[in-house]
Amino acid sequence: MSLYNIKIEKLSGIGTKRAELFNKLGVFSVGGLLNFYPRDYEDWSEITSISEVENGASVCIKATVYDAFHSGYTKTGKFITKTAVCDDSGVCELVFYNNRYIDKMLKQGVTYRFFGKVSNVFGKVSMTSPTFSSDKAVAEMRPIYNLTAGLNNNTVIRAVKEAINLLPEKINDPLPQSLRERFGLCGLEYAIKNIHFPESIKALETAKKRLVVEELLVLNLGLRNLKNRKRSKNKNLISRDYSAEFESFLPFKLTNAQRRVISECVNDLKNPEISLNRLIQGDVGSGKTVVAGSVCYTLIKNGKQTAFMAPTEILAEQHYNYFKEIFKNTDIKIALLTGSMKASEKNDVRKKLALGETDLIIGTHALLTNDTEFKNLALVVTDEQHRFGVAQRAKLISKGNSPHLLVMSATPIPRTLGLIIFGDLDISTINELPPERKEINTLLIGSDKRVRALEFIKKEIAKGRQAYIVCPLVEEGETDLASAEEYSAELMLNHFSDIPVGTLHGKLKSADKEAVMRDFCDNKLKLLVSTTVIEVGIDVANATVMMIENAECFGLSQLHQLRGRVGRGGEKSWCILVSDSNTENTKERLRTMCTTNDGFKIADADLKLRGPGDFFGSRQHGLPKLSISSLADTRNLELSQKIADYVILDSQNLLDDRYRGLKSEVKRLFNTIGEESLN
Ligand code: ADP
Ligand code: MG
Repeated sequence: MSLYNIKIEKLSGIGTKRAELFNKLGVFSVGGLLNFYPRDYEDWSEITSISEVENGASVCIKATVYDAFHSGYTKTGKFITKTAVCDDSGVCELVFYNNRYIDKMLKQGVTYRFFGKVSNVFGKVSMTSPTFSSDKAVAEMRPIYNLTAGLNNNTVIRAVKEAINLLPEKINDPLPQSLRERFGLCGLEYAIKNIHFPESIKALETAKKRLVVEELLVLNLGLRNLKNRKRSKNKNLISRDYSAEFESFLPFKLTNAQRRVISECVNDLKNPEISLNRLIQGDVGSGKTVVAGSVCYTLIKNGKQTAFMAPTEILAEQHYNYFKEIFKNTDIKIALLTGSMKASEKNDVRKKLALGETDLIIGTHALLTNDTEFKNLALVVTDEQHRFGVAQRAKLISKGNSPHLLVMSATPIPRTLGLIIFGDLDISTINELPPERKEINTLLIGSDKRVRALEFIKKEIAKGRQAYIVCPLVEEGETDLASAEEYSAELMLNHFSDIPVGTLHGKLKSADKEAVMRDFCDNKLKLLVSTTVIEVGIDVANATVMMIENAECFGLSQLHQLRGRVGRGGEKSWCILVSDSNTENTKERLRTMCTTNDGFKIADADLKLRGPGDFFGSRQHGLPKLSISSLADTRNLELSQKIADYVILDSQNLLDDRYRGLKSEVKRLFNTIGEESLN
């Protein structure tokens, strides 16, 4: 019987009421409780002498109550009790609030251990509301759990202790002994006992490492499983590579990196064993679109159909026009399909697709999720897929005759992390920009210089250029919405009265959004005031300045993405970051933006400074929830990848009985992201 099948109510002292509180914390079963790891520990083993405590530190002192208890009320009406304790180095005052029983709980003349934050002001030491324990029955390291109103730490400790007692004599360890020995990891029983009640700091580290590595290993194996399962044989094999012919249509030479990535894709197309399932990663402006175009062309010349999906209608239109130009001297048939087209037009396009009369269809993501039919769809290209999780990718390639999948992303992701998040895809990187691409000059200014920046923007607009101003207004809540509009109203009134300004924010209906973007693309609007919705939605070569308000509110990778909206033509371009933040960390982050245009360096800095949660912002990456490990933990991430390689070599598909436990852990973790992701 698995402890996951034993409800938390089964533990003594936990009735329906308390069980509900545990449920609130995400704990439903005894097994779940054992996985409910402490958020911190109090170290009661290390005793500090009263004379040596530092002001503000959390310490454990071992001291004897020598004074009587004095109670009274504070000015604000709180019940307060004071006493004093001493060790052989000094005296410490203890203060308790609203505890009418403290003089029964502590006895004069008896020695206890007290744990808490101390203040030490000019040698007067005191502790407010410390936790305490008899000196004899003391735990070395005391776990601190996340709590919820009505549930205190001691109740959780008692429950966990009981759960540990319920562990069977022989625990089924998902990591077989041979594996643990090889990679220096401790057993599960030791790990569980020591993560909750560590015998020592060393034991805690050992336990934690084992649990972290196990969780990352399980994540790794699950994602690889996903990848292999989706890996059907190549049902759209080609006989010839047409990429050289494609290049001859272009007004420029491809970079070496573009050529390499194209040939990586074509090699997949020629391989009968696997289908193409690849992420093309390349900094903004590295030329991903033509790479995808080349792969489409090769498939089309081999008699197949291809689909190219963009995140917005505008981008779809832009891609459509771009490819029409490239293919103008060929007989390739291209069509556009977007939601806002007339029903009759859409029908017409769909009919031709079904008959195989269209070679390349370009449209929004909605294109494939409805009932569009193809004659022989062989490749789906999706642009800027960050809003696109593992689950959606899996769904896409379940369409039709297992088409190839090419995903393009401009958010550079550190390699170890990429392996996890795109675990179901192979990765190709375009690590080179076209030669004439200019760096975007990035400046950091305080808001006192904003007016000057606005004057600069005006000058650029007078030269015929366009500009963006981005403000980090959250797209929820009416107040923010009002201020987005207020902000641009103020600009128009005071600075840009004779210039057509557009406003874009998340609360606009998508048709209205598209209309504003279209006017900006058509150069009818000169200045676009926007929240981050423009991040991937628009491509205007004539825009040369971007000013970002409250730059400190953005992640670096996001700033880099935003900045990539300018510098797309041949003109010199600027990005002006406005921030009044004075914290060192923030300044350091923003300075990184000014010193480098390399998206990978920026991503690394971002990961270090903010961690992966923020790195992805609020975007869904579709991964299961981790309970102890972190994707920023590069060292253990690498170790877990190594172990995953080993396990897979050792036993394909974890079929060997030794890996039964590991296999069911994979299932359990991935259940948390919902079945649909695995289907
Ligand atoms: P991104 O990788 O950001 O999607 P695009 O594919 O939109 O970049 O390319 C940006 C611009 O650079 C386009 O106008 C494209 O035609 C141009 N471009 C792409 N490859 C090259 C190249 N090798 N040399 C010169 N210009 C290029
Ligand atoms: Mg692009």
